[in-house]
Amino acid sequence: ITFDSFNLDPRLIQAINKLGFEHPTLIQSQSIKLSLQQKKDIIAKASTGSGKTAAYCIPIIQSILVQNESKTADSKNEIQSVILVPTKELAKQVSNFLKELTIYCGKHVKVVNLNDIENNQLLTAVLNDRPEILVSTPSKLLNVLEEHSDVSLMELKYFVIDEVDLMLSYGYDEDLEKLSNFLNLKQHMQVFMMSATLNEDINTLKQKFCNKAAILKL
Ligand code: AMP
Repeated sequence: ITFDSFNLDPRLIQAINKLGFEHPTLIQSQSIKLSLQQKKDIIAKASTGSGKTAAYCIPIIQSILVQNESKTADSKNEIQSVILVPTKELAKQVSNFLKELTIYCGKHVKVVNLNDIENNQLLTAVLNDRPEILVSTPSKLLNVLEEHSDVSLMELKYFVIDEVDLMLSYGYDEDLEKLSNFLNLKQHMQVFMMSATLNEDINTLKQKFCNKAAILKL
């Protein structure tokens, strides 16, 4: 099986080739299929090294590129995807990886790492540009939403919680609960929850955010 078999946008395929990825890992092929073809929420037991980051990044970028095709000149951009990670370091890694994957997409897919931006004026400008993908720790995103009331996540199509087990052990469950108030949980968005371990600890988050999720244990 190759990445070509998922009907991905040529710009995305080109970037995957440039990264030197020849074949999708197990979690990637499952996740790309379930996400793009069945629009399923996905809870995956996946540790670092499994290729879990690309497993959610590839379908998100693909779907943004597809939506761009049907966008009219005057339709307003909204933030489409939020990717939450437990540390600033991981936010940097994930946003850098997204930038590599979108290197051929020009301005169609803008990626912003909120934890990178300390200056409030700069942050306002960046957010006014309505980046398609935000990467952040829960606390930073909550802080930004509380201070920038014009930033809306109501049109969100993808919501990722990476390293769920670490999120919980760092005590991020309260921030995640508060963040849920900024989302339109009824209008369904696709959710990815990635965790090195899957046990009952994740049930609260699962019930809060997911809708009949497919569970991947690879
Ligand atoms: P992750 O599990 O997302 O932390 O990824 C672990 C490492 O595997 C990263 O350095 C990725 O760049 C790399 N990687 C991810 N997917 C593939 C793939 N399909 N083929 C080769 N390397 C990959």
